[in-house]
Amino acid sequence: MRVEIQTATTLVLKIGSSLLLSQTEDDTYGLNVKWLAAMAGDIADARTKGQKVIVVTSGALALGCAKLGIQRQDLNVAQSQAASATGQIELVRGWQEALGAHGLTAAQVLLTAEDTEQRRRYLNARQTLNALLDVGAIPIINENDTLATQELRYGDNDRLAARVAAMVSADCLVLFSDIDGLYTANPQDTDTAEFLDVVEDVTAEIRAMAGPSGSQHGSGGMVTKLQAGEIAQSAGCHMVLASGRAFSPLTALAQGARSTLFRAHANPLTARKNWIASTLQPAGAAHLDAGAVRALAAGNSLLPVGIQSLDGNFKRGDCLSIIAPDGQEIARGLSAYASLEAGLIIGKDSKAIAALPDVKQYNLERTEMVHRDDMVLMTSPNGELK
Ligand code: GLU
Repeated sequence: MRVEIQTATTLVLKIGSSLLLSQTEDDTYGLNVKWLAAMAGDIADARTKGQKVIVVTSGALALGCAKLGIQRQDLNVAQSQAASATGQIELVRGWQEALGAHGLTAAQVLLTAEDTEQRRRYLNARQTLNALLDVGAIPIINENDTLATQELRYGDNDRLAARVAAMVSADCLVLFSDIDGLYTANPQDTDTAEFLDVVEDVTAEIRAMAGPSGSQHGSGGMVTKLQAGEIAQSAGCHMVLASGRAFSPLTALAQGARSTLFRAHANPLTARKNWIASTLQPAGAAHLDAGAVRALAAGNSLLPVGIQSLDGNFKRGDCLSIIAPDGQEIARGLSAYASLEAGLIIGKDSKAIAALPDVKQYNLERTEMVHRDDMVLMTSPNGELK
C-alpha cells in the first residue's frame, strides 16, 4: 500500500501501450476493453474519495497499426503520424465509454513538448486542465503525435506525464507499465537483480541500473521512466512505478502489490516557488500601491487594481519583479497578461475592466494579474506566501 497514492489530492496515471492492447478472437490486436473497464472502476473509486484524476494514455500508434493492419517497424514518420491519428480516436472512444459507464466525463487533451516547456503555453494548458478538473471531468492526455515534429517531441509518455504532473502541481504520478518497479539489474537475465522499494534520488548509480535505452520493458524503456522520476521529484511530486498488468491496478496497489516509489523532494507548491524564485530573470516589473502590498502579505493574488505602473515588454507567462512603493522588490511571479493587455487594466477594478471596449478582444476578465501559486514573496525565507 502506498500512502502517497491514497492521500494524493491530484493523481496523474500514465498507462503504457502494452496494457491497452490485447489479442481479439480473430487473432488481431485491439483495445483491451476489459482491462480498460476495470481501470475505469479504479478511477471512479478515486473520484469518490475526492481525488482529482488525470490520465496520460499511450496506445494511439499501436492501436492505429492494429486498425490499419500495418507493422509499426515498417512505417516512416508521416505514416506513423497518420497511424496515430487513426488510433487516437479509438483510444479516446475506449476511455470515454469505460469512464462513461461510471458516470464520468472524459475530455481529450493532446499536448506537444512546446505546450509544456514554453511558459505562455504552459499557463494556457494548465488553465484548461484545471478548468476540466474543477468541473469533475477526467482529462485523457496523449502527445499530439500527428502534429509533433520529430525534433520537438517527447516520443514517450513517461516524461510527458511527469511534465503534466508538474504543471498541475499533482502530488502523485503513477506510471503503469508491464514491469512492477526498478531492479538493480534486468531481472529477465540477472538472477541477482534486487528490487528497489524506494528511490530518494536518481543518481548515476540508479541510472546505471536502467542500462541502455529500451533494454527493459515498456516502449520508453527504463531510461525515460527514470527521467520522469527526476522531473517529478524536483517538481515536488511522488512517482510510483508499478505494474498495470493486473485488472484494477490501483486496487492491486492498495492491497499491497509491490512498486517502486520515487519520493518527492519537496511539496509541489514549494518546488514551483523555488523554481520561480531561483531560475527566472524578470522580464518586467509591476509597481504596487500600499494596499496591494498588504493584500500580498495576507496571501492574496496580485490584482490589476493594485498596480500603479509597469516596466518592460513582457509576454504572458513571463516573470515580473513586484515592487513596493518604497522601491523594494517584494515578490516575483508569472504574469497572466502580456504588457500590452496589462497596460489596459492596471489601476482598474473588475467593474471598470468589464466596461472597457477591448475587454472581449483581449480576454481581459481573467481576474488575477499574478496568481498566488505563481508568486513567491522575497521576504519569506522559504518562499511561501504567508
Ligand atoms: N504517444 C504514443 C502513442 O500513443 C505513445 C508514446 C509511449 O509509448 O510512451 O502511441
